[in-house]
Parts: sequence; structure tokens; C-alpha cells
Amino acid sequence: MISIPKGTKDVLPSESYKWHYIENTVREVARLFGANEVRTPTFEHTELFLRGVGDTTDIVNKEMYTFEDKGNRSITLKPEGTAGVARAYIENSLFNAPQPTKMYYITPVFRYERPQAGRLREHHQFGVEFYGSYSPQADVEVMSLAKSIFAKLGVKDLQLNINSIGCKSCRKDYNKALREYFSSKIDGMCATCKERLDKNPLRILDCKEEKCKAIVKDAPSTIDYLCEDCKSHHESVRKGLTSIGLEYTVNPRIVRGLDYYTRTVFEFISTGIGAQGTVCGGGRYNDLVEQVGGKPTPAVGFGMGIERLIMVLESLGLPIGEPYAPTVYIAPMCDKARDVALTIANDLRAKGISSEFDVMDRSFKAQMKYADKLSADFVIIIGEDELKANKLAVKNMKTGEQVEINSQSLFEVISKK
Ligand code: ATP
Ligand code: MG
Repeated sequence: MISIPKGTKDVLPSESYKWHYIENTVREVARLFGANEVRTPTFEHTELFLRGVGDTTDIVNKEMYTFEDKGNRSITLKPEGTAGVARAYIENSLFNAPQPTKMYYITPVFRYERPQAGRLREHHQFGVEFYGSYSPQADVEVMSLAKSIFAKLGVKDLQLNINSIGCKSCRKDYNKALREYFSSKIDGMCATCKERLDKNPLRILDCKEEKCKAIVKDAPSTIDYLCEDCKSHHESVRKGLTSIGLEYTVNPRIVRGLDYYTRTVFEFISTGIGAQGTVCGGGRYNDLVEQVGGKPTPAVGFGMGIERLIMVLESLGLPIGEPYAPTVYIAPMCDKARDVALTIANDLRAKGISSEFDVMDRSFKAQMKYADKLSADFVIIIGEDELKANKLAVKNMKTGEQVEINSQSLFEVISKK
């Protein structure tokens, strides 16, 4: 037998309803905020992620699924959703439309990571991207959108952590402070951090190695090095969050694992699903569009892990949609009744009523058992007697009540449920 690749998962027919529920919910909330769906390819030119995500990040250095196609192009499976959207924004001149451009996506994401609970090699993200606005209110809007999704799903206990990592101008002073802090300690740190010290010291703050984490603990905080503009942006974001009653904590340790962030970064964390507790991560990325070849364009957004979101709902015992159950199951008791069953099923379906009938040649008793298992609302029983009298026996599976009706009144009886 050929097995599933490590770190990937099947969504089986018996559980796909959970995904539909989540997807419908996020679409609905996105619509309330005026965001439209954007669909970009599953793979892009590798260069896009090198420039967009950043070549000092773990994602680019260690985790990308990169290969050469038959035309000798270097291709990479999306390791995140934002860079592709930025490319599409530029390539399709979406900046020519009245701004902001508010978009969302639902996409598979591929990262060669060490598989564990909540960490897959193919996972799925719902993401939001608001382009064109420098306003701190846009930052508040995207956090509010994420929060609205959690609220709609019934999740109350996620903690919002925010930080500001400044802009190009304040980053210079901050990088200098980081280099000063780390230079005396770098010998005790991992090889990757040694490289980072020179290239991009901010990345050291995101290192997952225990020995590095211990040193990072006392490193200078971005927030103490913000320029006046970044400071005032940060204050306005905080004010905005407070004004809509969105509780948050400022956590100066959050820097996020992608290079494109500027100013606001944030994470929604769950404490109930183990070590991989970040359900949603995002922030502002005012330099990304320019970095991948467009005109300077402000943007803010987030990515939300759908598998982790489902884990959170499960851990809280919250309902995750409803499994499929037919309204009607038709149980023919003789061969002649089988053709009638087919006709009735199609008539009901044409009226929008989900209907199934026996195609397994089960005995009547086994059919009733199966209908029960399917959680059908009604079973229509057709035997010799019913055929002769042009009648149908309809059993309400919830109440157990069974009535004999004329076939013409079937729709009426069923739709009364
Ligand atoms: P983490 O710190 O957990 O590795 P990240 O910072 O790499 O997360 P992002 O790149 O911001 O995460 O992705 C957005 C969201 O996608 C995360 O908050 C998480 O819910 C989900 N996610 C990221 N990587 C994985 C993965 N390997 N498996 C499942 N979900 C993931
Ligand atoms: Mg990660």
C-alpha cells in the first residue's frame, strides 16, 4: 500500500462538513468587512518568496518545497499566502482601482517542517489582506475581522498579543542595539543565529532553539526604539482596539517569522491546544509590495491556520457545523418499488429535498437500520400494498410516527418537518 506523505492529512467525507462550516463562516465574516476572495496559484516562481518572505527566514531557508520544472524554472509551492497576493495585486494593477483593496483567501500552504500536533507539511490558511491604507484603523479592522470569526465560532478564550517592530528607519537603530546585545553572547548560540547577527539580527528573536531563546529573553525590545511616526501609529492602534472593546496584551517579544512585517504585528493564541497555540498571525507590511517589484503600497493582514482553528473548537467542545444527513431515505420492499423509489428521489431532489434510497439490495430491516444510521428525518416505505393503492408509508424518524399518505401529498408532508 502507498501511504500518505508525512505531515499531510486526508479530510474524509465524514468530517468535511467541519471544513465547510469554517469556510462558510470565514467567507461570511469577510463579506461583512467588504473583503472579496482572491485565488492565486498554488505555486509561484521561487524568486517571489526569496524577495517577499525574506532569505534569512526559516521558511525560505529550511522549509520551502522548491523544485525545477521541465522548463528549468525554479518553482516553489506556496509557503504562505501573502506574497502571491502581492504579486497578483501588482501584476493586475489592482492599485488603479479605488483603494483600499480588501481581499481574502483560503489556500493550502506547504512547509517542510517537523510534523507534530498542530504542525503539518501541508496545512490550510484563511488569510486577509487590506491594501492601500496607512491608517492604524486598517490594522484594527483586520484584527477585528479575526476576532469576529472567533466570536461567530463561539471561541472566547483566545488571547490577542500585539507589538510594533517599527519601520525601515527605526529598524536601523534597533538592529544596532541588537548587534551590540548579541555580539558578546553569540558564541553560545546556534549556527543560524551566528549568520543572522550580521544579516538580519531581528530574526534571532524568532529562533526556536532553547539556548538561543534563553539569551533572547533579555534582548532589547523593538518598542523602545520606535521612531515618532511608528510610536504614534502604535498608540493609535491600541486606542482603536480599546474603542471597540478588543482586549489585547502588548508583547514586545513578538516579531513574526517573515521578513515583510513593519510596525504592527499580532498573534491570537490559544492555551488549550498544546505547544502550537498560535491560531492566527499577522500584521502590517508596508514594504512588501515594493520588495516584490511594485510601487510603495501599505498593507495589513493575517493568516489563520484552519487545522489549528478546528483543534481549538474541538478542545473547547464547540459544535463544528453539522454532519450531512438526508431529509428522506426511501426503502423499497419489493423489486417493483425500486423504480418508484428512484422516481420519487429525483422528484424530491428537484424540489430541493435531499433524498437517498437503497442501492445495496438490503433487506427491509437492514434498510431501516441504515436510514437510522444516516440520521434521515423521514423514511418512505413502499411495498406491494402501497404500490397497489398508490400510497406511501412515511415514517417520521424523530417521533417514530408513521402515516399512510397519497403520493401527491408527499412534498407537503415532508416539507412540514
Ligand atoms: P508557528 O510559530 O506556529 O510556526 P508561524 O509564525 O510560522 O506559526 P504563519 O506563517 O504566520 O505562522 O502562519 C499563520 C498561521 O498558520 C499560524 O498562526 C498557524 O495557525 C498556521 N500554521 C503555520 N504553520 C503551520 C503548520 N506547519 N501546520 C499547521 N498550521 C500552521
Ligand atoms: Mg512557523
